Amino acid sequence: MKVTVASKAGFCNGVRRAVQTAEALAEKYGAIYVLGELVHNENVTEHLRSKGVICLKLDSVDSLKAGDVALIRAHGIPKQIEEELKARGVTLFDATCPVVKRNQQLVMQRAEQGDDVIIIGDKNHDEVIGLQSYAGDRVTVVDSESLPQIGSKNTSIVFQTTVLSQKFKKIQDFVKNFQKNNKNLVEIFNTICYTTEAMQNEARSLASTSSAVLVLGSRTSANTLRLFEVAKRQNPRTFFAESADEVRMQISKIKDFESVSIVAGASTPPWLIREVTKLMSDTQTQETEVIKEATLQEQPATTPATEPTEPTASTEPTTMDELMSATPHGGYTEYKPGKRVKGTVISVGADGIVINIGGKNDGFIDKSEASLDGEYNPADYKLGDELQVIILSSKSGQVQCSKKQVDKIIREDEEAEKALNSGEFSLKMTEVVKGGLRGKLGRYTIFVPASQIRMGYVSNLEEYKDKTLRLVLMPPKEKAAPEGENGEGEAPQEEKPQKKSRYLFASHRLLLEKEKKEREDTFWNSIHVNDIITGKVKRFTSFGAFVSVKGFDCLAHISELSWNKITDPSTVLTIGESYDFVVLKLDRETGRISLGYKQLQPKPYEVAKEKYPVGTIIKGRVERIFSYGA
Ligand code: SF4
Repeated sequence: MKVTVASKAGFCNGVRRAVQTAEALAEKYGAIYVLGELVHNENVTEHLRSKGVICLKLDSVDSLKAGDVALIRAHGIPKQIEEELKARGVTLFDATCPVVKRNQQLVMQRAEQGDDVIIIGDKNHDEVIGLQSYAGDRVTVVDSESLPQIGSKNTSIVFQTTVLSQKFKKIQDFVKNFQKNNKNLVEIFNTICYTTEAMQNEARSLASTSSAVLVLGSRTSANTLRLFEVAKRQNPRTFFAESADEVRMQISKIKDFESVSIVAGASTPPWLIREVTKLMSDTQTQETEVIKEATLQEQPATTPATEPTEPTASTEPTTMDELMSATPHGGYTEYKPGKRVKGTVISVGADGIVINIGGKNDGFIDKSEASLDGEYNPADYKLGDELQVIILSSKSGQVQCSKKQVDKIIREDEEAEKALNSGEFSLKMTEVVKGGLRGKLGRYTIFVPASQIRMGYVSNLEEYKDKTLRLVLMPPKEKAAPEGENGEGEAPQEEKPQKKSRYLFASHRLLLEKEKKEREDTFWNSIHVNDIITGKVKRFTSFGAFVSVKGFDCLAHISELSWNKITDPSTVLTIGESYDFVVLKLDRETGRISLGYKQLQPKPYEVAKEKYPVGTIIKGRVERIFSYGA
């Protein structure tokens, strides 16, 4: 006997996600409630109950009180119940299938913009009851066997996810005709999830090519019973079983068929399919084949009309796999710790926030990870809010996320941008690398080439490690350090930016040069010939004295120090002492300033006149004798 398991057997993605979330929450909280039936399968319900998951009928939710933890099932619940439970303080998590969620949001948006909304589906179905609640009083439900009554207003038509594609086509043709004679815009949205239809198509195909078919699942599941009907119509040797024990009881009837296909409804758990597959392959020694890929392509809706006068139909993804493939995260989200993703708030509770991050599993922001200040107030968050988070870990079907970490990065980025835009900023240089120093400013890496650390040669970069430098960003053409400076002036190869925008070159030297120039301008503008200025004697040479005036070196030539002939400046001035000088000459080009000291001293003959009036008797030593006197 050859056993083939349908590629689409068992839990659809929406159900799998809801079951995994329920298990994870029960593990965390001990016991949780599911609003409405999670899966139409008693085995699964029993399995979940053993783990602390209790399914509540929607008319019993009044029994829930503040602090209870509850989960919204895959096909959603009415909006009013959700709001009431939240107001009551129930911690609510949302496992609404993303396909259904998308429909709810679409319906709400269309009703808000004033459209009449028509839902094609079963008005008693959980999904449709929930969907209606999002459209307020602008909604009508029409079963898929009937044609809708369209009024004179703009109208949006959506479908219950399980409506068959032929019904969509029928409504599309009807609307096309309607639009020929009517001016109001009627838009059709293909909101069907083709999972169910694809399962039926595959069951039909396998039934026609196998000797027998075994349908696994609950007799209370409409979806599974429909699969049985489809297969049976194609192949009368179709059997039904709810458990492995039921298969054992029928095995004598099945085992002699040459080929048997196993199909299962969207509520049939994977462990039952595995158990039955093993049982059948143990019964026979022959090959058991498990189909890995779909044998049939899902049937997309008819291509929508694009003429403005014709009804429009959505070309949005229509299976959960397609929907997820179309997420900005590129298919199933890779929940890599440290990855930054966007999510939409789908429920807010006392312990934290659940967000849809576009993958198979939802993200959970624990209240301690919600905000930088550590304060958590559920009222600050509302459904539909878009949050940026960082993945912390992924386990048990729920992805732990942190909003706080993203907020920290955003704040650091803002501070970094502010610092960078201010022209000058201070930064601790934390690393010595080849050719310079490196530091971090938020998420920016700042590299300071060795030649840009100061206005001279830096022989030991280590001296600058952990020092804070005042810096300016370098203009692009100045990124490379001047040739020859430090012998390693060019920024090294390995320092080339990986992400240009976050790797910046900066200089302390440019800042120093700029400040020096400003000081020089101020000095040169403030000094003029004949000004009397005060200067401090710095050093002597054989030709004069160097004097510092406001930090600038000036020269007082030896001939300008005294009216007498001197050969040593120290006979007039003392190093370290300050004196008044007169400015004799200025040359901005060469940067030279000549000072005079003697000009501010009395001339010798004027002194002599006062000191030695005519008639005074004085003693003198003969210094030199000439022909004309001594
Ligand atoms: Fe499953 Fe499709 Fe329903 Fe979602 S909409 S729960 S994927 S059948």
